[in-house]
Amino acid sequence: MTKEKIEQIRSEFPILTEQVYKKPLIYFDNAATTQKPKCVVEQINSAYYHLNANIHRGVHYLSQKATEAHEAARQTVAEFLGATKREEVIFTRGTTEAINLVAFSFGEAFCKTGDEIVISVLEHHSNIVPWQMLCERKGLKLRVIPMNEKGELELDEYAKLLNDKTKIVSVAHVSNVLGTVNPVKEIIRIAHEKNIPVLVDGAQAVPHIPVDVIDLDADFYVFSGHKIYGPTGIGALYGKEKWLNAIPPYQGGGEMIATVSFEKTTYNELPFKFEAGTPDYIGSTALATALNYVKSIGIEEIAAYEKELTEYATKRMLEIEGMRIIGTADEKSAVISFLVGKIHPYDIGMLLDKLGIAVRTGHHCAQPLIDSLSIPGTVRASFAFYNTKEEIDSFMEALKRVVMMLS
Ligand code: PMP
Repeated sequence: MTKEKIEQIRSEFPILTEQVYKKPLIYFDNAATTQKPKCVVEQINSAYYHLNANIHRGVHYLSQKATEAHEAARQTVAEFLGATKREEVIFTRGTTEAINLVAFSFGEAFCKTGDEIVISVLEHHSNIVPWQMLCERKGLKLRVIPMNEKGELELDEYAKLLNDKTKIVSVAHVSNVLGTVNPVKEIIRIAHEKNIPVLVDGAQAVPHIPVDVIDLDADFYVFSGHKIYGPTGIGALYGKEKWLNAIPPYQGGGEMIATVSFEKTTYNELPFKFEAGTPDYIGSTALATALNYVKSIGIEEIAAYEKELTEYATKRMLEIEGMRIIGTADEKSAVISFLVGKIHPYDIGMLLDKLGIAVRTGHHCAQPLIDSLSIPGTVRASFAFYNTKEEIDSFMEALKRVVMMLS
């Protein structure tokens, strides 16, 4: 990406010109949430000003307009993920709700005492706890794919975990702590040899690398809008029609029904069967705006630029004595976790904050992973396409100062 292009992109994100503690904000916490371009904020305003009516219910003009916009947003999400059927996209509050939906509904339909679920050691709590809840509810066992010292999943060990009792595999596409891009296509192929479906947690992948659910042959694929420049409170679950038809609804209420009587309720068809209650039609349309914005820049171009940023930052960070980068997989996304000497990650994060630099510290909602590494947590810098090498240089100056103060 050219300098001019990046400048133009940055001008579309007003928050990037904010000052914190009288210092220019350097926002390196993009894995937690991304900033929003004007077009997304304007879409939210515009939808409330011109399009607000409850969808799917009214015969009146506004309700029909809002319904059309919500369903067009579903089409946009489907296309962004490479899905061919609009009905295979369910709007959720985000990744967490999407995984809970599958863990509950798939568990109800297909799991019984003694069955097994396979996840990996580098999962976010959102891809651990819902499965543990299912295990407790129905007496299942959780099996965990190990990783090597670079933070890459061990596929030989993974294959050995699969057996007749394995009901589903659920893995992250990209680790939010290590940045590892997991070989999900291969993981899915291995599971499918044994007719086991796979859920992919795409929260950290969709904003950064091209995703095609058909090419991956994913059975379920989930992501959050707020991590891809969209609003909070909206995300999506892609599921193959055959699975979504085979599992029961997650929540009951309006919209998800075909008929209701006190004796018996029948359920609506896809995708409505999984969208009980008034959906976030403002959020869905703003998410579609965000996805179209990303598309207009080009996900391939974004991936290439963020790789350049990550490699540049990694190289520069290694200038610091005692620097330990946690996660050195060959395939890595725009996340760098690190520790310096014996300094506690929290102290580094606190001081960087005072210099205007937003990074994350702690276990990053992946406590089992952090425990397996026997570390107290990490400092995590995570990039987006609006970040620059100049910001990385400023971060480096600040980091050197902070390390000197704390050593
Ligand atoms: N999975 C991964 C890999 C994540 O990084 C996150 C967010 N940090 C989640 C799941 C949960 O996403 P959300 O909080 O938007 O539901």
